[in-house]
Amino acid sequence: MAEILPGVHQVEGVDPSPDFSTHVYLVKDKGSGWTLIDTGLPGAHAATLAYLAKIKVEPTAVKRILLTHLHRDHTGSLKEMAAKTHARTFAHWIEAAYIANSPKYDGPGSPPAEAFTVDETFKDGDTIDAAGGLIAYHTPGHTPGHTSYYQAERKLLFSGDLFFGEGEKVILTPADYTHHIPTAQISARRMSQLSIESVLTYHGGPVLKNGGGVVRTLVHSFR
Ligand SMILES: [Zn+2]
Repeated sequence: MAEILPGVHQVEGVDPSPDFSTHVYLVKDKGSGWTLIDTGLPGAHAATLAYLAKIKVEPTAVKRILLTHLHRDHTGSLKEMAAKTHARTFAHWIEAAYIANSPKYDGPGSPPAEAFTVDETFKDGDTIDAAGGLIAYHTPGHTPGHTSYYQAERKLLFSGDLFFGEGEKVILTPADYTHHIPTAQISARRMSQLSIESVLTYHGGPVLKNGGGVVRTLVHSFR
């Protein structure tokens, strides 16, 4: 079982290759519900549903699906997971437009596999009633509406592709897949102001301890 922190699971088996190191997170809410953060590539829903069965959680107990950004490796199984769980789906208003293919995303990284209209859009600083309360921080750069989710009580940062885990440290996701690196640096600098224990990266990592120190080390390297 991949419960990496109490109530925080890294879904097993969504990874298309060991090197790619993809982490879909399943987070226990304070009540009986669960929240899924990102959904993996097309086809990854099979692994997520198998994982839910393994930990004896009904798919309909997943009440919310949060997207960090539009890229296919995050939204590829959104439609299937939404259909199986009946969860409400959330994305930043900019990213929601790209996920709906309106307009089509033409930046670096893979566009969504197919158009999907999320149930709810949010803006920077909004609180989402999930996982004990998550603050949605608009952290553009990797994509225009990229969002990181912060759980203040437990000091957890679900950082999507703002950061890329590399052993005990984090780097910015490489330029080949990133819309605008200087903007990502600004977002990283902003996140370095938060009190963070764990950085839950989507690729590589995660960094479970001293996350804030690790982010500050990265930010200090920008010149
Ligand atoms: Zn991405």
